[in-house]
Amino acid sequence: MKPSAILDALKKTRPNETILATISTIYTARKKAHHQMLQGISPIVHLNKTLSSSDFTTTTKVNDDGELEGLFFCHALSINLLKSYHYVLLLDCTYKTNKYKMPLLHIAGITGANKTFSLAFCFIAQETKPFYDWALDSLLTIFTSNNIPQPDVFLTNQEQALINSVTSAFPNSTHLLCTWHIQKNIVTNATKLIKNKAKEGEMISAWNELIRRPSQFNFHDKFQTFASKYGAKFEEYMHSTWLPVAEKYSNAWTKSIPHFENCTTSRMESAHSFIKSQLLGPNYSFTAVIKIITNALEAQLHEISAHYHQQKINSLKYIGKILHNCHGQITHFALRKAQNNLVLASHLTAAERDECNGCHHTRTGIPCKHRLAELINRGETASQRNSMSSGILR
Ligand SMILES: [Zn+2]
Repeated sequence: MKPSAILDALKKTRPNETILATISTIYTARKKAHHQMLQGISPIVHLNKTLSSSDFTTTTKVNDDGELEGLFFCHALSINLLKSYHYVLLLDCTYKTNKYKMPLLHIAGITGANKTFSLAFCFIAQETKPFYDWALDSLLTIFTSNNIPQPDVFLTNQEQALINSVTSAFPNSTHLLCTWHIQKNIVTNATKLIKNKAKEGEMISAWNELIRRPSQFNFHDKFQTFASKYGAKFEEYMHSTWLPVAEKYSNAWTKSIPHFENCTTSRMESAHSFIKSQLLGPNYSFTAVIKIITNALEAQLHEISAHYHQQKINSLKYIGKILHNCHGQITHFALRKAQNNLVLASHLTAAERDECNGCHHTRTGIPCKHRLAELINRGETASQRNSMSSGILR
């Protein structure tokens, strides 16, 4: 109710009493009640207190009334992983399904063995630029205060305020859009605009073909042909939403960006459901919640580290001789990819060997079939440090 309506109601319900309250009395009383309510129900304040006495690096954002509006927290173990695996970061918000009524921005990294790790969490009161700016500045501080090189790539969904903050805090990193979220958005709009199930299915296959095209040549024409096939409204939606940002998701542009084949943030969905079940469970005290997260992060590190040590010892079977030097230096995940390229290399003709555009190596850090064919030809072996940056065991 508006304060004037409250005052009106007071006068009407007590016609025989003299009401001393003025409009400003109501304003003051309302603010006091609001403040008391926040004191009583704001569990995030307690969460912040618990975090400040733990292994988490935390930063907070407070408004003019001293109320907590943002909480960023990052565990020391995650920072250790980041020191080795800082190339690609995934950012995704999980929505207001929690008792804090705040969206939770989750920041994750990927190891050389292709495992996801939670880097940082951030509660924000609003999904607006000032809040995202603050969150990304807090993340930037983690990099600068630990002397960690900044990421090559950030992957997010199409959330303009978040994207603006990423590009202003990390101007030297490339921002890419998650192709899985784009497809979800297109399907939602197709349901409204195309209204023909068979056509929608065909449209999705055509879309995937379009974004996998290797060349920028004719991309706009091909996009136009694709979009115009499904009615004027769909065409307008595709043109205004996805054409201007094509270089952030289309292979024709992203093929030479070191994203190590990470084109979606969908791997974060399982991490989200874990966080929701642990952090946002209604029955835990905050001390218990922090203990659970710390345990989970320790388990995550243990799994990554056990996997690392196994790979240092165990050699992969069926790996070409040319890659033997890489054993114990490069993850099995990257070695298997190199082995696939080696198989392709053995089928290349001399003319095909000269067709290398260098994109595969830049994008994945793994030598391409052309490079391997050249090495075989010269009787050399793949050198681990320089040629397979994506899979280095550290
Ligand atoms: Zn090549």
